[in-house]
Parts: sequence; C-alpha cells; structure tokens
Amino acid sequence: MKILLVTSEALPYCKSGGLGDFIFSYSKALKRNNQDVSVILPYYNTIKYKYPETNSEIYDKFFFDMGTHNQGCTVYHHNLHGVDYYFTCMDRFERDGLYGYGDDNERFACFMMAVNTFITRHNDYDVVHCNDWQSAVLPLLLKYNPRQEIKTVLTIHNPAYQGWAKREDLYNYFRLDLGYYDSGYCRLGDSFNFLKTGIMASKKVNTVSKTHADELMYDHDGFGKIGAIIDYCKHNDFVGIVNGLDVDLWDPKTDKLLAKNYSVYDYKEGKEENKKAILKKLGIPYDFNGPLISAITRLSDQKGVDRLMSIFPSLSSYDAKFIVIGTGEKEDEFLYRSLPYKEVYFVKRYDENLAHLLYAASDFFLMPSYFEPCGTSQMISMRYGTVPIVSSVGGLYDTVKDMCMNKEATGYVFNNSDPGAFLSCFKSAMDFYKSKDPLMDTVIRNGMLGDYSWDKSCKEYLNLYSSITW
Ligand code: ADP
Repeated sequence: MKILLVTSEALPYCKSGGLGDFIFSYSKALKRNNQDVSVILPYYNTIKYKYPETNSEIYDKFFFDMGTHNQGCTVYHHNLHGVDYYFTCMDRFERDGLYGYGDDNERFACFMMAVNTFITRHNDYDVVHCNDWQSAVLPLLLKYNPRQEIKTVLTIHNPAYQGWAKREDLYNYFRLDLGYYDSGYCRLGDSFNFLKTGIMASKKVNTVSKTHADELMYDHDGFGKIGAIIDYCKHNDFVGIVNGLDVDLWDPKTDKLLAKNYSVYDYKEGKEENKKAILKKLGIPYDFNGPLISAITRLSDQKGVDRLMSIFPSLSSYDAKFIVIGTGEKEDEFLYRSLPYKEVYFVKRYDENLAHLLYAASDFFLMPSYFEPCGTSQMISMRYGTVPIVSSVGGLYDTVKDMCMNKEATGYVFNNSDPGAFLSCFKSAMDFYKSKDPLMDTVIRNGMLGDYSWDKSCKEYLNLYSSITW
C-alpha cells in the first residue's frame, strides 16, 4: 500500500509530545512491513536550521487559493530510514515554535490546503492517514478528489485540542460550502470544529489505546461533547490501537545519550552511573539515600501538575529528590511552588538529550494524568528500569500492570477518580522502596522485558486500512 501520514510533528525533525514519537516509530514499522510510506509536515524554522539537509531537493512548487490571496508552497523531499519525508515550506511556518500562535487555525488550514494540492498533483496514495486537528479537515477536502478510492483515516492523539474556528472560515480557509456548517456536519456548539469535521468525513477514526476509546465513547460530555459525536457517528467503527515505541531509539543497551549502557542483567550498576551523571550535570549534590523521582512532561492540567506539586512536602521524609523537565502553561506556577523545596529541581525547557539520561537515572517516574490517550513516557520509563506511578486512565491503564498483580506487576496504577489516591499510592511506593523488598526488582525486570514494539499495533493499523471498503 502507498500510505501518506499527514502530521504537524515528526521526530527527529520536530516534536512537542507523543505525536512526534508516533510518526517516527510507526512510519519505520510500516516500512518494516514492506509498505510504501511517506510523511508530510510543515517546514518550521527549527527544521530548516537544525536539519539543513532537508531542503537540498525541491520536489514540487505550486500555488493555491488561500483566503483572499494566492499562497505559494515549495515542497522539499528527504528520505530517512527508507521513509519519504515531504516538507511544505510556506511563510506562515517561518517561526521558531510549532504551535501556540493566535493564527494557528489559519496556519494549519493552509497546511491542509497545501497537502490537498500536493495529493492532487501526485495522485497515487492508497491511504491518507491524518493525525489530530491540524490535519482533520483534509478527509473532507479529499471527497472532492477525482480519485474517489483514497482511503482516509483520522487518528485522535489528543481530543482536548480540536481547532475551533468561525462558520465563515469553512469558506475563507477551505473554499468549502457553508452548508456543511449549517447542516451541522462541521459544527460543534457555535463553532466550525476541525476535529469533528475529520470524525464525520474520514472513512475510519481511531484513538491510541483501547481504554481511551471506551472513555471517549462513554463520556458524552467530555472534550466539548466530541465523545458523543464519535458514539453517534462511528459507534461500530471506532477503535483503540495502542502506540508502540521505537525500541531501537529507546534502548538502554545502546542509547548513546546515556553515561553507561545497561541491560536487565546489570541495571543496578548502570542506573547508578546514570544517576551520578545527571546529578553532576545539573549540579545537584549526591547527598541523599532515597529514590530519584522524575517527570518529563508538558506542564498542562491534563498531566496532573497539581498532583505532581502535592508530593513536594513529603519528599524530605523519604530522603528523595525530584527532577522535572517540562514546559507548558503551568511552568511558572510549578517553578514558583517548587522554590521552597530544596529536594525539587526544575529544568524549564524542552531537552531531548537530558530526557534520555533522566529516564535512565531515575527510580520512579510520575505520570498522574487526568486523561492520557496513550502516553509514551510510561513505556520509556519501564524499558529503562524506572518504575512508573500512573493514573488508571487510557493508555496508562492499558500499558502498566499494577502492583496488585504481584509477580506480573510493572508499576503502580492509582484510581484516577479518587482524589486522595495519588498521594497514598506515591507514599506506599516510597515505603516499599525503603523496605528493599525483592519484589521491586521483579517489577523493574518485568518492565524492562515488556514488549513495547510496533509489531502487533502496526498489523492492527494495516487491518484497519484494509477494512475500508467502498
Ligand atoms: P503527550 O504527547 O501528551 O505530551 P506522551 O507521554 O505521549 O505525552 O509523550 C511525551 C513525549 O515527549 C515523551 O517522549 C517525553 O519524553 C517527551 N517530552 C515531554 N516534555 C519534554 C521535555 N520538556 N523535554 C524533553 N522531552 C519531553
């Protein structure tokens, strides 16, 4: 099959979260399964400056109607690991960040119009696989493609971000008939909703874990009622496919960013060396006997930032240190609240290299999210022998086996609907660590030996593509 993945981020070029990991690792898995796979994404400044090799080949150049003007677009091509990457170079993306601008709706509308033009000019894709709101209107645009047999799929990685625009933008941005809004097809509440449009227009829609698929369908009021839309419109067709991990990139045996590589046989020594290395790097004295706890995350409400901050007062009683690498809307509050606690070290930036070292150095990884469609970090931490403490939601519930499973356990899963559960779970994990119970070694080894590869999930996606009939 010839498959085009349409995305707003992809490792190694740019990433703000799990979507970047997904595209990189899933495209490689498709390649291993002998599929012809391409990825198309905007050409942000960061790609241009950090990866200058990406603009050495101009693949296409065209103009299209965008709002009141004729928009120019140059498409660069670069092959990485056998995957064809196409970068749409347009003035609106010549900025340092990926998102967070007042005109994001218009920017990504422009991206979708460019991809639509690109597909029409190179019209041989069997599957166009869109991801999140930034590419969600494309399946509707493709209904007007002369080749009607293009299979469209939309994967929802985070339903909280939807792309809310005005009724008129349906025409202004996309040249689509306002009847789509008036009939309710593209409307949610009083807005033109990009994500809803994708749910309505795509042949198949999925999310990134089975439990999150159930959560979305049964919580009709959540996420601006997007779950109700999915339930009414795609009930029998909505599936959860859990993300895999790039097990080559995230491998403590070979990871070049670690101070010492290690495996399930020598993880104690290996993790100790990495602990010393990160403490030295950050100028933190190694003067504690308790565990090193970490979080590497977007600091948004979704990720349970209030829960993370709730452990600050108890750290000293466990002689523990807490290192957090993160950015996001709660970063200033997190910094301010952490200041009185000498046990907390906050690295306020996005730092991929330091993240690798911290996963390897830590004893526990906290991920107390209020919702988590899949989550990548809990899988990385288990693979690096770091015990995750996670809430019982979405992909966290599907990928971490709680301590109640005893010799099968891979971490701690606390009840998300119980307000006191996180703190008491955290404290029992700390007490268990202190007790030096050998079960902790079993839990660590189970996590390290888990199967996080794409093998099974890639086949599920291929079956999903094949199940589209006309
Ligand atoms: P989400 O996609 O909701 O942000 P995931 O757990 O799926 O959450 O993916 C987060 C990914 O981004 C992980 O690979 C994590 O290591 C990485 N990450 C998040 N914040 C940072 C940061 N500040 N520095 C480095 N890596 C980060």
